[in-house]
Amino acid sequence: MVQIESKPLLYVMAWVALMFNAMFLVLVVSGQPLTRAATRHEYRRTCMGSEFTILIYSDDPKLAKDAAETAFARVEALNKILSDYDPDSELMRLCDRAGGPPVAVSDDLFRVLAASLDWAGRSGGAFDPTVGPVVRQWRRARRERKLPTPENLKAALKLVGWRNLTLDPVAKTACLALAGMKLDLGGIAKGFAAQEAVDMLKARGLDRSLVAAAGDIVAGEAPPGQAGWRVELRPLGPGDPTPPHVILLTNRSASTSGDAERYVEIDGVRYSHIVDPKTGLGLTRRSGVSVLAADGATADALATACVVLGGEEGSKLVEMTPSAASIFMNRTDRGVEIRRSDRLPAGLKD
Ligand code: AMP
Ligand code: MG
Repeated sequence: MVQIESKPLLYVMAWVALMFNAMFLVLVVSGQPLTRAATRHEYRRTCMGSEFTILIYSDDPKLAKDAAETAFARVEALNKILSDYDPDSELMRLCDRAGGPPVAVSDDLFRVLAASLDWAGRSGGAFDPTVGPVVRQWRRARRERKLPTPENLKAALKLVGWRNLTLDPVAKTACLALAGMKLDLGGIAKGFAAQEAVDMLKARGLDRSLVAAAGDIVAGEAPPGQAGWRVELRPLGPGDPTPPHVILLTNRSASTSGDAERYVEIDGVRYSHIVDPKTGLGLTRRSGVSVLAADGATADALATACVVLGGEEGSKLVEMTPSAASIFMNRTDRGVEIRRSDRLPAGLKD
């Protein structure tokens, strides 16, 4: 009897165990809990004088929020090192010692200075991290709506020259040869910081993420079920009526540079916040460029260099940069000229 009665019980237990195992198998194979799906989390913060946006797909809201906080904290810490607006930043303290002996610098500052010098060399000086004195003249021009005097511009230009910045990779020091030199990392810092933020999210397992800092975007893995992050490239800025070039971005960066947002118009001429280090003049060409590259600092520096170089020379620099691509737009009397590099992914049509 016991045996007869216990047999069905055994069958039931075996069946339950089998079902449990099957469910367990489904959980393990899919790698996803059955009840929770990845949702989109969005966080915004003003950092480095721009709005930083962090997008994360995750099924764990607390993990996403904590990771976003850590990423913002990293960007704030980088700002404290790289800012040329904050007189107490490590960068400005280094400039206070210009003309003196080499100064020991942090790893972060060293990395950004080294990347900046690399781009200065590759771009033939179109990108120049020592443009500070001239950029300051143009910032004042914007505030006062008055052109810098030729004397002031000449004096500022004498302090510009990337070859007067030297780095020692062994001692981790930086040396500015001339007293009065001022570094400006505004053309590379946001892309570098956005990349650091994405890397930080990935280190916490949040691979499906994107960080945007004004014109600098760094994408991680694609959102769930999609081939990439939908990004609209608008080289001439958000207000431009020219249709955007829409792409899907994954584990890459996109940066846009141009005169769209910061410029001063004096006597009918529009001077950009980006200066030509050879002349000391704010660019007057009405153009913009969007650049795709493997990492945030590369896209950011390359876009700034390209807008100084212009479409023809800039395109050559892009072609020489592994896996980089670009789209230039130039306003002319005849309309907008567009130049796309061969490596630029075809635009989405929808
Ligand atoms: P972006 O928006 O990345 O093109 O950076 C523009 C900022 O880079 C300016 O606001 C300046 O702070 C700085 N900058 C201006 N001209 C140059 C230049 N020729 N090379 C490097 N940085 C520059
Ligand atoms: Mg830039």
